[in-house]
Parts: sequence; C-alpha cells; structure tokens
Amino acid sequence: MSLPDLPFDPSHVLIGGAWKTCASGETLILSNPSDESDLTRIARGGTEDINAAVAAAHAARAGDWGRMPAFERGRILTRLGQLVLERVDWLAELEALDVGKPLKQARNDAVALARYCEFYGGAADKVHGETIPYLDGYTVYTLREPHGITGHIVPWNYPMQIIGRSVGAALAMGNSCVLKPAEEACLTALAFAHLAKEAGLPDGALNVVPGLGAEAGAALSAHPGVHHLSFTGSVATGAMVQAAAAQNVVPVTLELGGKSPQLVFDDADLEAALPFLVNAGIQNAGQTCSASSRILVQRGVYDAVRDAMAERYNHLKVGAAMDDLDVGPLISARQKEIVQGFLAKGADLEIAAEASIPNGPGHFVPPTLLDSVPPDHPLARQEIFGPVQALIPFDTEEDALRIANGTDYGLVASIWTRDGARQMRLARGLRSGQVFINNYGAGGGVELPFGGTGKSGHGREKGFEALYGFSTLKTVAALHG
Ligand code: NAD
Repeated sequence: MSLPDLPFDPSHVLIGGAWKTCASGETLILSNPSDESDLTRIARGGTEDINAAVAAAHAARAGDWGRMPAFERGRILTRLGQLVLERVDWLAELEALDVGKPLKQARNDAVALARYCEFYGGAADKVHGETIPYLDGYTVYTLREPHGITGHIVPWNYPMQIIGRSVGAALAMGNSCVLKPAEEACLTALAFAHLAKEAGLPDGALNVVPGLGAEAGAALSAHPGVHHLSFTGSVATGAMVQAAAAQNVVPVTLELGGKSPQLVFDDADLEAALPFLVNAGIQNAGQTCSASSRILVQRGVYDAVRDAMAERYNHLKVGAAMDDLDVGPLISARQKEIVQGFLAKGADLEIAAEASIPNGPGHFVPPTLLDSVPPDHPLARQEIFGPVQALIPFDTEEDALRIANGTDYGLVASIWTRDGARQMRLARGLRSGQVFINNYGAGGGVELPFGGTGKSGHGREKGFEALYGFSTLKTVAALHG
C-alpha cells in the first residue's frame, strides 16, 4: 500500500524552519506493520542535527517567538487545530499505514490532536501568577515563565496524541521545542510540523529530528542547552533519559506505561461495563500505556464476566489497518516477539478466548483473554504491550485493592460498582494517576491531567496541569516601604 501525497520530504529533518537532509545524509526505512512492505525512508538524525535543532530553538526564543504575546501563541495553536481538523482523513491514513492501527482509531487520534491544539490554544493566555501577602512595605508576585527549550521524545504507539499533549502545552507556554519521534513511526510528527508552519508558527519554535533512540534520542536527553524533557516510552529508556537529564539538572516528565486494572464488583452494571472491559485492552492492539490489561472480577459475577468477554473476543476481527477492523497488527517483528515471549511464559494458564488472525504477512498476534490468572503470575504483573488481558478473580473489596495495587505500576484504574461509599473508598485507596468510576478512559480526555505513580512515571501532562509542568515559577519580592 503506498503513502498518500506528502507536501514535505519524509527523509528530511526540520530545523529552524528549513526542511533538509540530516548531517550524515543517512536514512532509515519506515515499514508498514500491516503487510511488512517498505513505506518510505526517514532521516537518521544524530548529535549534529540535535545540536543544530537546539541552537535553532534558542534563536526562536531570542526572536519573534520569545517576544510573542500569549494570546498570539494561542491563535497560532488554534489555527493549527483547525488545519489538523481539515486534514483529519489524511493524517489518519498516514498514522494507520505507519503505526498499523485501524483507520477509525487513527482518526480518533487525529481529532484528539486537533482538540489538544484547541485546548492549549485557548489556555495560552489564561495562565498567570499571583500576588502574595507578605511583610509590610512589600509587594510580592509570581510570574509563570516558560522553561525555554523543551525536548520531546515520543514513542510509536500514539504519535499524534502524545505530540498534541506535550508539544501543544509546551508551545502554549512559549517554549521552543525539539521533537524526536520514534524511528518506527514518525510520519504524523513530520505532517504536524508541516501544518504548524502553515499555521504561522515562527521558524525554530518547533524542530523535528527523526532518528534512532540511542543516537538522536540520547543526544537530546544529554544536551546541556535543553531545559526540560518530556519522555513517553519504556521504563528502561525512561530511566536512561532521566539519568542523562540529571547530569544537566534538568526536570523530566516520564510517562512509562502500566498494568492498569478494572475492578468489577458483584453489584456492577455489567452491560455498561463490558464494552469498556474489552476495548480498553485491545485498543491499538494493546499497545497503549493505559491499556487495561488486568480485569479483576468479584467471584459472584466472575463466570458471567468471563463468558461475556470471551464471546466478544470470539467475534473480534483482526486485520490490516486500512481494512479498519477491530484490531490491527503490532508495530514490529520485535514487538511481536516480545508479546509471543509473554504468551509462552503463560503456557501454564487457561485461555478463556483467543481471536483468530489473518494468514500472510503483518505483525499479528491473536487477541488473548487469560482465565483465572494468579495475581503474582508474571502475566498479571508485567506490562505486555499487546492484545492480552488477564482475568483475576477476587473475594472482598480488601482483596481487590491489594491485588490492584500489587504491581510496580500505577497509571489508570477503574471501579465498576453501584455502591457510592465503595467508589469513594477505592478512588482514594488505588495507587494510580487516574481513577475512573463506572467507565474507563484509555487515552481519552484532553482536559484530564494524566500521568503515573511508581514505575508508570512522574509528572503530569494533559489538561491545565500540563501548563504548569511546561513552565517554571518566579517569585518577585519588591520592598518599596
Ligand atoms: P523505547 O522506550 O525504547 O522508545 C521510546 C522512544 O524513546 C523512541 O522515540 C525511541 O527512539 C527513544 N529512545 C530509545 N532509546 C533511547 C535512548 N537511549 N535515549 C533517548 N531516547 C531513546 O520503547 P520501544 O523500544 O519502542 O518499546 C519497548 C517497550 O516500551 C514496549 O514493549 C512497551 O512496553 C514500552 N512502550 C511504552 C510506551 C508507553 O506509551 N508507555 C510506548 C512505547 C513503548
């Protein structure tokens, strides 16, 4: 399947408003996960390109972009949101071909990207400091200022949503950004930068350097001219990024995934819960940081929930992203190997249901629902990042809370019960960055602060909270008598 028309050269980097070949002139192949064909070539950016991008970002801060009033930054972002909305189908097609996610899921991501631009466009001129009562003869106030240069290291699973939430908020606060998209999927990052230019974003305010993590990513994390880093991806890489940033004493936002549980009690509205229970696990073939990979079910409704979920699994349609079915392929042969490795570790477990996958090329694995998984089993504790969900029975509310909090992660959780007091108790007791009551929001909610505890990371993106993360507070104390 070939790419739709591109108004930019995908083998280029964008630095200081100019599209050009990277310093080494080398390229990497971008392939289509649905059929393993080559899509195009992208730049293999490296240290020299990152240095140039950071220099261009500094120049933008020192120029028009740094002086631009907040409401004008907001207008550019709002215009960018409009351009994204006008090109939703084009962006969705690029994302579907590049990431392998079914077209309607890619379309949702493009619409979410537009929403981030609108949200942060509207918020840009609404972040302000405070006056603080202090000693007699003083006036004290605070100023919310951009960090300066922000680095954004983005994974392959939700490029548009993650760029929207991190670059959108950083630009709204007046930072200049250097974006390092994932080597497996970076077309919509480049398309976004193209649209940002069209929306009037000054040169150098957003620079994009595709390349390998160990090269361009490592160079960006360690660059002394970067003032804040936003990283989404694996725990191991996140720890490396944080260690590199520590050398420059630079703050880092880490969003590292999870093992997010849904807790289903005997009194739950099962009909309402069922679509959420399954979709939150198989969306984007389970390659979602906030995928719900653990379904904890109270003993009284366990069989009913398992059978109803199994029924849904048996009807799941798996296929190429452009066929727009329920589940697409995984991103790469490597990711498929990782997921198959986990399934092999679970060979001792009962399978409640397994969807079928197409024959032929493509990185497909069968969506798999595992029955009665012991809470201390590796498949109930480790992030799989594939379409695999573990059903775990429990007896009491205390058991449910202990099991739910029993992994190293804490990103998203949900509670399905009609008991209001239990909802409140568990919402407080769950160790999780977000808790949903009688719903589940994997990836949704532009307005909702998002981030983890424990190995899920630290810092918050999305919502208004992100604007605080992408800025710093200065206190001014004037003694005037
Ligand atoms: P990764 O963490 O290695 O890659 C994410 C981003 O970091 C990419 O842009 C990559 O180029 C960059 N990167 C890689 N090495 C780097 C380094 N040394 N310094 C700076 N940047 C670097 O993730 P992956 O290899 O694509 O996937 C591996 C596992 O990570 C998956 O199986 C999954 O469990 C997890 N993952 C989680 C998320 C999430 O949303 N939380 C996203 C992608 C992957």
